[in-house]
Amino acid sequence: MVTSSKNHMTADAVVIGGGLMGTSILYNLVERGMKNSVLFERWTLGSGSTGRSSGIIHLFTDPEEPRARLTLESLRIYRNFAEIVGGSDAGFVNTGFLITVSKNESKAAKKHVLRQQNMGVPIRHVSLEEAQELAPSFSFLEDEVFFWEPKAGYGDPYEVTSAYATRAREKGARVVLDDPVLEIDLEGGRVVAVKTAHGRLETPNVIVATGPWSRTFLSKIGIDLPLQPTLAEVFVLRRPTDQIPNHTGGSDPANGIYFRPEGKDFTLVGGSATPGKIDPDSYTQHPTEETVGRHWSALNRRVPLMSHAEFFRGYTGMYTVTPDQMPVIDLLDGIDGLFVCTGFSGRGFKLAPAVGAVVADLVFDGGTRLTDISSMRIDRF
Ligand SMILES: Cc1cc2nc3c(=O)[nH]c(=O)nc-3n(C[C@H](O)[C@H](O)[C@H](O)COP(=O)(O)OP(=O)(O)OC[C@H]3O[C@@H](n4cnc5c(N)ncnc54)[C@H](O)[C@@H]3O)c2cc1C
Repeated sequence: MVTSSKNHMTADAVVIGGGLMGTSILYNLVERGMKNSVLFERWTLGSGSTGRSSGIIHLFTDPEEPRARLTLESLRIYRNFAEIVGGSDAGFVNTGFLITVSKNESKAAKKHVLRQQNMGVPIRHVSLEEAQELAPSFSFLEDEVFFWEPKAGYGDPYEVTSAYATRAREKGARVVLDDPVLEIDLEGGRVVAVKTAHGRLETPNVIVATGPWSRTFLSKIGIDLPLQPTLAEVFVLRRPTDQIPNHTGGSDPANGIYFRPEGKDFTLVGGSATPGKIDPDSYTQHPTEETVGRHWSALNRRVPLMSHAEFFRGYTGMYTVTPDQMPVIDLLDGIDGLFVCTGFSGRGFKLAPAVGAVVADLVFDGGTRLTDISSMRIDRF
């Protein structure tokens, strides 16, 4: 898996970061013909946000058209991963997702769902009776409103990352692990090389996909992006399977939680990011009792039999958050050959396949036809 960079002094493109984004970008560059591309990862594949990701892909949380279009394209790829990418089925499980919205939010939600339907998003409003049929173990209030995403589900973020890296390598790319990129060399307003812990590699194209480390990394070349690493706390419960044999995915914005089945016996529960900044190199690895208690209580309100579940394990990860919740996917004005792809908050899994194609389009064509990504430009900050 690890190839030394010492024997190869030039590359058509260098991707920095071996998470979902970096590996999807590498794969897409290679697919478009840039076979002499190299990815550098400072630790192992998926060791950043990716390895902690819940892997959910559903669309209700993408009201803006560009993001919805990218998620829709990624959903198509995840549902046909073995055919399109190969080597894996992305671990995709089609659970469907039921979104429950409180009465106060229902007007805005119906409007944005209508907009999504006009874009071809598979989502529909369902009645209380239908919601109960789809999710017999859930409990609902009379005045709540329900939306159903039949094609949604979850995949395996590590498997996807690994599949992209493997497929890219099979087609000629190199994946170098345990080798952090320390510097990007610029000359006359363009990228000429990267310096890593083990050497220097000349290249005209560098794509920075360093997730929560992006702000610090980019500051070395004078670029200051308002990216904030924040804590995401997750835990897994062992369900009473005699009482709840299975369930659909659930998104419960009013209670601030999401949940989905994990394998046959477990249920994974997460929520919105914990307020405050964290240091990506030293953050707590365990959710607090307070968060687990609050989210489990919210889950019990939605699925009362979950009060009989057992706590199995908890862990944390990082979201890379931007002020407007939109990612940064752009080529830099004034530095030819430098591309940035970061700021995916809690949405990078569902965007990764399409984002890899978009970044490859930027590298080859300077723009993309997949969707209008002007809202993801750097100069908005
Ligand atoms: C708990 C949790 C749950 C989530 N759930 C979902 C979900 O259900 N659905 C969804 O769509 N998204 C979800 N996400 C978000 C999604 O996982 C992320 O947006 C996505 O993984 C980001 O991928 P990335 O490649 O940008 O970053 P990362 O995975 O962080 O990858 C960046 C990589 O860059 C490497 N790196 C950093 N600096 C250097 C350097 N100088 N040289 C070389 N390598 C370097 C790091 O080691 C790291 O491997 C979740 C995230 C978390 C934390």
